[in-house]
Amino acid sequence: MTTREEELKKRKTYLQIAGTACSNCHKTCKEAGVTSLLRCARCRMFYYCSKECQKADFQFHKAFCSAIEEVNNTEEAWYSCKGTESEWNKRKIYQMQLLSYALDRELTNYERHAWLNQPKCQICFKCAKDLKKSQSLIPCPNCQVVFCCCSDHWEKHRSKHNDLCAIYQIMLDCEKIRYLPDQPLWAPEEYDEDKSYPPLPKDWNEYFKWRKASHILQHDSYCRVVTNTLSLPLTILAALKRFYDRNQLHSINDMVIHLAGANQYELLALMAFEEIMHVLPDIKSLQLVMIGLEMFSKNHGFPLKCCPRCTEENRKRVCSMYPMTYHDFANSLDYNKPHLVVGFNTGLYEDDTDLWKPTIECLLDKNSPCSFTSYSKKEAIEDVKILKEWGAKILTGAKENKWRSNMPLVEPQEVDKFYYNNYYITLFQGNANKEKN
Ligand SMILES: [Zn+2]
Ligand SMILES: [Zn+2]
Ligand SMILES: [Zn+2]
Ligand SMILES: [Zn+2]
Ligand SMILES: [Zn+2]
Repeated sequence: MTTREEELKKRKTYLQIAGTACSNCHKTCKEAGVTSLLRCARCRMFYYCSKECQKADFQFHKAFCSAIEEVNNTEEAWYSCKGTESEWNKRKIYQMQLLSYALDRELTNYERHAWLNQPKCQICFKCAKDLKKSQSLIPCPNCQVVFCCCSDHWEKHRSKHNDLCAIYQIMLDCEKIRYLPDQPLWAPEEYDEDKSYPPLPKDWNEYFKWRKASHILQHDSYCRVVTNTLSLPLTILAALKRFYDRNQLHSINDMVIHLAGANQYELLALMAFEEIMHVLPDIKSLQLVMIGLEMFSKNHGFPLKCCPRCTEENRKRVCSMYPMTYHDFANSLDYNKPHLVVGFNTGLYEDDTDLWKPTIECLLDKNSPCSFTSYSKKEAIEDVKILKEWGAKILTGAKENKWRSNMPLVEPQEVDKFYYNNYYITLFQGNANKEKN
C-alpha cells in the first residue's frame, strides 16, 4: 500500500464517524445493499457493512477500540453532561486525556477528529451511551450527520438545522472528493500566456478561467476542494505582490519561502505549491522550507516532481523540513534568508502563544516580510492585537482574504459552526517601535 492509501485508511469521514458509512469501505447501507450496518461490539462507536470489512479494518482499529472500551468501562468517565454545551466540551477534552493514557501515546489527528465529532443530540448533548439500550440517536434524513435523541428534540432543533443542512451536505460532498485516492488537487498546466502576474485575477472564478480550467467551476464541491489546496500558493502570491513590485518579482530566479508552524494541511498540499512557478515563470528554483514541531523528521532538501512543462524548462522545486520552532531554526546554520515567511491558520493568540512570541520577535528582528492567516475574523483581530503587542509593524491587519478556501470545515468544539482555511490575512514586517527612534 502507498502512504497515501494508508493515510486514507486511517482517516474517518464524517459519515463514518456518524455511523452512517462503513468504517472500512466508506459504503452507506444503501450502497452496500444491507438494511443496517453492524456496530463494533467493543467500542460501540464504529460501524461496518460486513464481517469482512470489520476484519479488514481491525489492524487500524484495534488500539483505539480497546482504549475506547477501557474509557467506557471506567465508571467516572461517563456521566451525563447535564445538557450544556460547555460541560459536554469539558467532558470530551477530559476523556481524550483518558484515551491518550489508555493508548500510552498522543491521539492521532484522525482519532481526535473521530472523538470530537462523535454523534450526540444537538439539544441535550447525550451520546448513544447515555441513552437506554432500546433507544438510538436519530439522524437528519438529508445530511445523515446531525443527530437528536428523540423527536421532541428534533422538533426543537429542526428550524435551526434547516438553514445549515445544505452546508453540511456541501461539507460531506467535499469530503467524498477529498477521500478519492486519485483526487486531482491543482489546476492544469495551461495558462493564458497573454496575461502575466501581477495582478492576480479578481476572484477564484476569474482565476480558473485564466488557468484554462473553467470546467472546474461546473462542479461546485470539486471547485471548493481545489480552493482549499490552491489557497496556500495563491495566498503566498497575493502577499508577494504587497512586498515586491513587478520588476522585483520578475527578477527573482531562486525563490525561498519559509512556512512557519507548518503542519498536515501544508504537507498534504505540497504538490500544489508548484502553482507559484506557473504564475511567476521567471522562477527557476522554488525552495519551500517547512518549519514546525509537527514535521516528522529533519530533511535538508528533497526534490519535488514538476509538471512536464516545468520539467522541460528545467525548473526545480525543493522542499526541506525542520521539526523545530522557527526561532530555533533561525539561529541554526540551516537558515537562509527568505523572500516571504508564511504562517497558515496559526492562531497566535490562542495556541502555543509562548512558543510564537520568540518566533515573531525573531521575524521582526530579521525584518522578514510575513503573511499570516486566520480562520475567522474574531481570531484575526486577536492575532493582530497580539502582534502589535509584540511590536510588529502591521501592513494589512485582519483583512478578508479573497484567496481563502471555500471548503467548509466543521468546528468540533461548537454546535453548527463552520470555518474555512485562510479566511483572513495579516501582513507585517519589522518592528514598529524601532522605526520611530
Ligand atoms: Zn464495508
Ligand atoms: Zn471497536
Ligand atoms: Zn436530546
Ligand atoms: Zn441535515
Ligand atoms: Zn509546472
